[in-house]
Amino acid sequence: MPLLVMKFGGTSVGDLARIANAAQKVKREVERGYDVIVIVSAMSGKTNELVGWVEETSHLYDAREYDAVVASGENVTAGLMALRLQELDVPARSWQGWQVPINTTSAHSAARFVSIPRENLDAKFTEGFKVAVVAGFQGVSPEGRITTLGRGGSDTTAVAFAAAFGAERCDIYTDVDGVYTTDPRISPKARKLDRIAYEEMLELASLGAKVLQTRSVELAMRYKVRLRVLSSFEDTDENSGTLVCGEEEIMESKVVSGVAYSRDEAKLTLMSVEDRPGIAAAIFGPLASAGVNVDMIVQNISEKDIEGRSMAVTDMTFSCPVNQVARAQKALTDASANGTITYDDLIVDTDVAKVSVVGIGMRSHAGVAAQMFSALSAENINIKVIGTSEIKISVLIDRKYMELAVQALHDAFGLDKAA
Ligand code: ADP
Ligand code: ASP
Ligand code: MG
Repeated sequence: MPLLVMKFGGTSVGDLARIANAAQKVKREVERGYDVIVIVSAMSGKTNELVGWVEETSHLYDAREYDAVVASGENVTAGLMALRLQELDVPARSWQGWQVPINTTSAHSAARFVSIPRENLDAKFTEGFKVAVVAGFQGVSPEGRITTLGRGGSDTTAVAFAAAFGAERCDIYTDVDGVYTTDPRISPKARKLDRIAYEEMLELASLGAKVLQTRSVELAMRYKVRLRVLSSFEDTDENSGTLVCGEEEIMESKVVSGVAYSRDEAKLTLMSVEDRPGIAAAIFGPLASAGVNVDMIVQNISEKDIEGRSMAVTDMTFSCPVNQVARAQKALTDASANGTITYDDLIVDTDVAKVSVVGIGMRSHAGVAAQMFSALSAENINIKVIGTSEIKISVLIDRKYMELAVQALHDAFGLDKAA
C-alpha cells in the first residue's frame, strides 16, 4: 500500500472542530488508497502552558520531568484524532512515542532520533488499520523515560517517519498555505513559493523562519524525503502548498529566495581582551560549557598603552539568544575571576535582531552583500555585526528596525508579489 505522512501543527488541531477538519483530510487520502501515518502536535497554546507550569513549579527543573509534563499535550491530540477518525469509519489507532517505539538519545528537551523500528505499526496496518496517529515531538530514551525533541519538534517526527517508512510524501499541514519569501505575518508583500531547495529551507529555518523545525529539513535533505508545506484550512490537492525538494527540481532562478529574521538576539562585547594565542578558546570554551549558543563572532584588534608600553588587545563581540545572556555573563565573569581571561568591560546589548537573506543563487553572483547593505543604508539602518556563508548574509541591527529591514530587503531583491 502506498503510504503518506500527514502532520498537523498546533493551530490545525487547536479545537475539536479543527481536529474534525484535519480528520476529514486524512479520510480523503485513505479513500484515495493510501495508508496514512498522522503526526499531531499539541493543541495550540498547550505546550506553552505546560512549559509555564513546569517553570512555575521548579526554577531549576529536572529535565526528565519537564519532558514527562510537556510531552503530554501531544498524547491528548493523538487520542482525540484517532477517535474522530473512528467516528468517520476510518480504522485508526493512536501511538505514543514509547509504544512505537520512537527511540531517541537521552538528551532531555533536545533529544535526537536513534531508531524508529517499523514492526509494531506495520503489524497494525497488516491487521487492516488504515491510519496510525502518532504523538509528535516525543520519544523514549535508552533508560525508558519520555523525551522531547525541542520546540517545533513534531515537524521532525513527521520527516523521520516518512524516511523510516518510505512514505511517498510528507505533508506538513499548518496555518499558512506554504513557505513564503518571508514571514507573511510581518510582510504583506510576501510571496508564496511553489518550490524551495532543501539547502535554502535549511538556512531559512535555522535563521528564524519557524514554519519548519531546522532538524526536520536536515533529515528531509539527508533522506531525500519529499516534503510539502500546505494549509489545513483550505481545500488542497497534490499541487497545493510549497514543495521542499532538490535544487535540480527548481525552475525559478533568483539570487535571493527569502528573507528571515530572528527577533530575540543579544550582542555582547568584551572590551580590551589580551590578544594572544588561545584567547578565543579561553572565551568561547566556558560559554559552550555553560550551554550558550554563540552565533556571530567579530574580533577587532587594537593597541592599548599599558604603563608606557603598547600592547595588542582585541574587542571580542558575539551574539547569542537573548534568554541566554545571564548564563553568558556568568560564564565570562567566572572566567575572569579565575584568571583565564582579562578584559576592561563587558557591554551587553539586548535590543538587537538578526535579519538574513538566503539564496543558492548567491554562489554564482557577486555583489549581493553590497546590495543588501545599500538597501539598509537607504532606510538609515545601522549594521552592528555582519555574518556570511556561501548562501546567506546576516546582519545584526537594532530590534526596532527589524520589520523595516525585512521589508526593505524583500523589496530590494525583487521578492515583493505583484501589486
Ligand atoms: P505549526 O503550529 O503548524 O507547526 P508554526 O507556527 O510552527 O505552525 O509555523 C507556521 C508559522 O511560521 C506561520 O504562521 C508563519 O507566521 C511563520 N513563518 C515564518 N517564516 C515563514 C515563511 N518564510 N513562510 C511561511 N511561514 C513562515
Ligand atoms: N507542541 C510542540 C511545540 O509547541 C511541538 C510542535 O508543535 O511541533 O513546540
Ligand atoms: Mg511548528
